[in-house]
Formats: sequence, C-alpha cells, structure tokens
Amino acid sequence: MKNVIAIDGPSGSGKSTVGKALARRLGGVYLDTGAMYRAVALAAKRNGISMDDGNALGELCRSLDLSLQADNDVPRVFLGEEDISQAIRSPEMDMLSSAVSAVREVRVAMTILQRKLAKGALVVAEGRDMGTVVFPGSVNKFFLTASPEIRAERRYRERLGKGEAVSPADVQSEMRKRDRQDSTRALAPLKAARDALIIDSSELTPVRVVEEICRHLKRGQLKVNNLRK
Ligand code: C5P
Repeated sequence: MKNVIAIDGPSGSGKSTVGKALARRLGGVYLDTGAMYRAVALAAKRNGISMDDGNALGELCRSLDLSLQADNDVPRVFLGEEDISQAIRSPEMDMLSSAVSAVREVRVAMTILQRKLAKGALVVAEGRDMGTVVFPGSVNKFFLTASPEIRAERRYRERLGKGEAVSPADVQSEMRKRDRQDSTRALAPLKAARDALIIDSSELTPVRVVEEICRHLKRGQLKVNNLRK
C-alpha cells in the first residue's frame, strides 16, 4: 500500500478539490470513492431496490459495470456506456449514497473494488474510510476538516453555481444529517485514522492544503518513479 495516499474527511472539507490537484501534481490517479457509493445509490434507485435489502444490494454491486475515468481534469463516472457523472451529484444522491454506504454487503463489495483499482499506480484515494479500513497500511494518511459553517458555505456556493434554488439553512441541515449518519454508523464510520495528519482547511486555500500535504508526504515510502515537485 505504499502507492496509496489516503485522504478522508466530511463533505465540504475540500477533499475532492485537493485530491484531484494532488493527483495531478504527483502524476498519480485520483480515486473518488464517494462517486462509487453514489453510483450504487443511483443504480439501486433505478432498479427499485430498497436500502433494507442487503442481499439485493450486494448482488447489484457485484454485477455493476462501474468505471471511473480519472485521467483528465474532470473525472468521470460510467455505468456501462452511460456517463453518470452529473446524475450522481444531486441532493437526492447525497442522502441515498449515505444510506446505501451503511449497508454491509455494499461496503464489502466497494472495498474489494477500491483495492483492486488502487493496484499499481500512485493513487490519491479520497473518501470516509480510506485510512481506517480500505488502505490501513498506507503510510500517507490525511484527514481534512473545516468548521461546519465553512463547509456548509462551500456546499451552498457549489449548489448555487449549479443553478439550484437552495437556502443556506437547508444546505446546512442536510449536511449535518449526512455527517451524523456517516460518523455514527456501525461500519467504517467517518473518522480519522490514528496515524492520519489532521488538516483544518477552514482558513486555507486548496493550493495551500496541497502544499501542506506535499510537505508531509513520506516520499521515501511512496512507490512511484515519477514523483514531481
Ligand atoms: O464524498 P461524497 O460526498 O461523494 O460521498 C457520498 C457518500 O458516500 C458519503 O456521504 C458517505 O456516506 C459515502 N462514502 C462512504 N465511504 C467512502 C466514501 C463515501 O461511506 N469511502
């Protein structure tokens, strides 16, 4: 697992922006594991599968033709030939992905797939349980946080930018609910690994966070040939 840089944190902590920028800077692959849970949620909805039906969800995960294209500036997610990158980024999928990700059969299938996808190249893996469960052997673990107000503000701006008519209060309460679900579930709850470096991004730009991470990378232990400055 020397090739994996694990970044965890709640929504709005800046993981995605930072993860993509870091992967670009290091010449690595960006692995957005949240997008994978979102894809499962979308497929479950389309197939009318209930969030209580672990067996059917496990079956769905194992048959899912899911692929991630992370080799350009805008990572894309596909179900078969269909580009679902937009469809998985709705408020409904925010909540449904959180629900589906609490199901044991789903987590088992996604963990296997994530480890498979991380074989070989330098990977910047981003999610909720990268450092704790999926890649516990990684020596480069980071946990991003930011104050709830700032995280909600970031999400609010993001959604406004997409033309959604939302209120800051609604965004904040949805975010709180999702954070609570993600951090209190029995399996792989959102939390920092004991050996993760915690970075509060409240007052930092993404560029500064990337610099901070690069400063702490245990470069000698990163198994890559093309580490760039
Ligand atoms: O990161 P993102 O907001 O896209 O993740 C969507 C949901 O997927 C999260 O709210 C969380 O419930 C789930 N997730 C997870 N484990 C991960 C990544 C995401 O449970 N490694």
